[in-house]
Order: sequence, then C-alpha cells, then structure tokens
Amino acid sequence: MTIICNQHKFQYEVECVCKMFFPCTRFGHEYDSTDFDRDDILITRQKQGNTHTYLLVIFKWNGKLYRAHKVVENQRAQKQHCEEQLCTALYEVLTKATGLQVQWGIMTGVRPAKYMTYLMKRGKSMPQIRREFRDRYLVSDQKIDLVERTAKNQFEIIGSSRENSYSLYISIPFCPSRCNYCSFVSSSIAGAKARNLIQPYVEHLCRELAYIAEQAKALGLRLESIYIGGGTPTTFSAEQLKQLTDAVREYFLCDTVREYTIEAGRADTITEEKLQVILRSGATRISINPQTFHDEVLRGIGRKHTAQQVIDCYRLAKKLGFTDINMDLIAGLPGDTLESFQRTIDTAIGLDPTNITVHALSVKRSSSLYTVNGLDESLKQAQTVKMVDYAYRALTKQGYEPYYMYRQKNTLQNLENVGYCKQGYEGLYNIFIMEELHTILAAGAGGVSKLIRPGCDKVQRIFNFKYPFEYLKDFDEILKRKDAISEFYGQIL
Ligand code: SF4
Repeated sequence: MTIICNQHKFQYEVECVCKMFFPCTRFGHEYDSTDFDRDDILITRQKQGNTHTYLLVIFKWNGKLYRAHKVVENQRAQKQHCEEQLCTALYEVLTKATGLQVQWGIMTGVRPAKYMTYLMKRGKSMPQIRREFRDRYLVSDQKIDLVERTAKNQFEIIGSSRENSYSLYISIPFCPSRCNYCSFVSSSIAGAKARNLIQPYVEHLCRELAYIAEQAKALGLRLESIYIGGGTPTTFSAEQLKQLTDAVREYFLCDTVREYTIEAGRADTITEEKLQVILRSGATRISINPQTFHDEVLRGIGRKHTAQQVIDCYRLAKKLGFTDINMDLIAGLPGDTLESFQRTIDTAIGLDPTNITVHALSVKRSSSLYTVNGLDESLKQAQTVKMVDYAYRALTKQGYEPYYMYRQKNTLQNLENVGYCKQGYEGLYNIFIMEELHTILAAGAGGVSKLIRPGCDKVQRIFNFKYPFEYLKDFDEILKRKDAISEFYGQIL
C-alpha cells in the first residue's frame, strides 16, 4: 500500500494509524505526488486557505473510493492540532473501508496509562481525563475503563520510586527451541553451536554484573528490583543458574530490593533442581508461561511441551514454596479460537496464580509467521479483539486487577498487553520499566540500559550487542559503554 503525504510532515503518525488497521503491511511512501491513478493508495493532504486549513484523506482500495476531510481555523492550525485532525479523518476513512472499530482510536505512540497518570498529576479530574481520551483520541469507553483502572492501581507504586532508585535486568537470550511467532533475539540451543556458548556466556555475564555493581555502589544507587528474563533463563543448567544468582547476591547491595523475578518460562526447561536453586537465590517471583492451554495450538507454534506439563510445573513450584507466580498467555495465536482461548483463561484462573499477563499476538517481520503478503490468513481471522475483551471481563470478575499495560506495533488494532494481578502482587519491575520511572541497568546480550532522570522525559540508552557470539567477541566494548552510567549520574547526583 502506498501512502502519499502532500504538504505535511505527519507521515509517521499516518503510518501508525494505518498499521492499526493493516498490521504487518508494508507501506510505500511518496511525497507531494500527483500520481493518483492507481488502486491501493492513501492520499493525505494539508492545504492552507486564506482563513482555514483543510486536512484531506482519500483512500482508493479494492476498487472503491473513500474520503473524509477536516477544516481548522488558521489561528488554531498548530502542528499538533493539524496532526490530530488529519489522523481523525484518516481513522474515519479506514473504519468505513475495513468495517473495523479500532478501540484505541488515534492514540498511537503514547503510553495510555503513563499519559493518564500525567494528567492525574496535573490535577485534571477523572471526567475531564475520560473526555479527553474519548473526544480527542477516539478511545472506546471500554479501553478508557482499562486505562483508568491500570493508572489507579499503579499510582501509589509510581510514587514509591526515589531519585536514586534503579532496577537491574539480566538477559538470557537462549531457548530450548524457537517458537514460530518469536521476534526476540533468542538463540535456540537445539544446535551444538549455540549450546557451547552458554558456559562462556555465564562467565562473561557475571563479569559484566560485577562491573555494573561497582559503579552502582560508587554512585550510591539504590537497587529496587531485579529481573532475570529472556529468552528462557531456565535453559541454563541448575549449576549455571546458581553461578549467576550467586554472582548477583555477591556483587549487588540487595538489602533495598523489593522484588526479584526470575522467568522460568517454558515448562520443557523447568526441573525441581532448578526451582530449588531459584528459591534459594532469594527470588521472590517467578514466571511459568503456558501461552495457551491448548495442546494443538502449542504444537502449531513450535512449543515442545504440553499444557499438562505447565500445570505440573506450576503445582511443583507451589509445593516448593513459591507464593508469587506469573503466567503469560497470548491472544490471537494461529489455530486458537475464541472458545479455546476462553478455556485457556478459565484454566489459568482455576490454577489461581497471583499474576496473569495477557498479550495480544504481535507479529514482527523477524518471526516466521510473517509473510510478505502480510498476516497469515488464519491470523487475519483470529478473534483477538473478542479474546482480549473476554480476558478483561473474566479476570476482573475473579479479583484480578490490571496494573500495567503496553502496546506493540504490528498487533492487530494495536491491542494492548496487560498485566493482571491479585491485590498486593503487582510486578514492580513491570511498572518501573513501562512507566520509565527510574534507571534500568541491563546486562547480557540484547540488554538495553535506560538511564532516566526522574521527572525528565529524555531517556539515555546504552545498547549491548544483540547476539551471544557478538557479546562474547566484543565484550570489552560492552564494559566500556557502561562507563556512560557514571558520566550520566556524575552530572545529576
Ligand atoms: S520462549 Fe519466548 S523468547 Fe524463547 S523462542 Fe519462545 S517466544 Fe521466543
């Protein structure tokens, strides 16, 4: 599909709205073009008259023509207002053409809960905020309810982060095999090449942690939460997990840590011995991720375990004494139906974990589900919207509250991922990172440290190399980059 932008610079915003209706579609861009004589084009135009500015959208699609326009008085034609009006016209056109009612309206590129918290802190009343979401951004009442609940549930936690707080993220980019929807940089250890990297990786990771910890101590930073994620951290053997968690305990000042999560992840990697190591490491929270309780769907996405194995792992973890367990589920997986997804949600609720996180499937170009023609046909038909709605209704009815949320590109209708929990079991790290409340120092391949000055929107990032082999090969460079931490805090503390 070709997007033509004539006399305006809102190409990014226009593409974001288009992606909600056409996820995974490739868009071509043309500027100030008059070549309209073809199908599958979207023409957007800003035209300034003597007293008014006109924002026009014409969409030629499947042999039909759709159009809408907005008129703004020149005195009010500031950049943001024109951008919003153009997106509103575009939204009207795409809704008419596709028949889809996108629940997030034109709210793209904004973290809804963060924006609502911002408005709450500025003293706006809830009715005023709800009006702004509905009238300005065209967000549905149901999504406004979700954002309101989320923002209220995280409000107190947001206030508990201090000036010198930080969290630690440790990346384990290895998995037993690759799921076919995966877009993370995670190496499957099915082959010996990746398997042989694991031990050197553990050793280098421990060295990087020592280097980070030294700086954090010297700067007087206060460690609030630790998150070991991936990939699948339990791809490590019990000995390797012990080596890593011992290093964390030895190098970091952990007295101030309020939460310590280790993603156990996939049931095909979890053993009693590894759970014991995690328990003894002082971790307070783990994740055991079913994604779905439908065996056929699991097979279809390339997970090498059954739903029963997940249930067995969960029961084992409970028996060993884990009290705070998260389960990740995905709505919109190929082969899943609304009924089987509902059964998945109901099964998860029946197991009674403290946290259930519901993701809407995001298909990125790097995943094998992506095809050059856009989404696979079965995905197009997925009733993801209804699934996500069902999850919200069923979980909140059973006492789970939404407490953090985020949206990813290439998700049907830009649907959200939502963390639900029982009261008092909010995953702090998830809120800290999503709301960008304080610095996250990241170790390991693919890790991205975010240096954050409280109250300031600008985030300074330090990137580690993505793949384990690069991480090992250029390890000295990784350490060198970490010197930016001291430089950053040298200016503000
Ligand atoms: S377990 Fe997660 S990180 Fe690993 S391949 Fe599957 S989706 Fe990707």
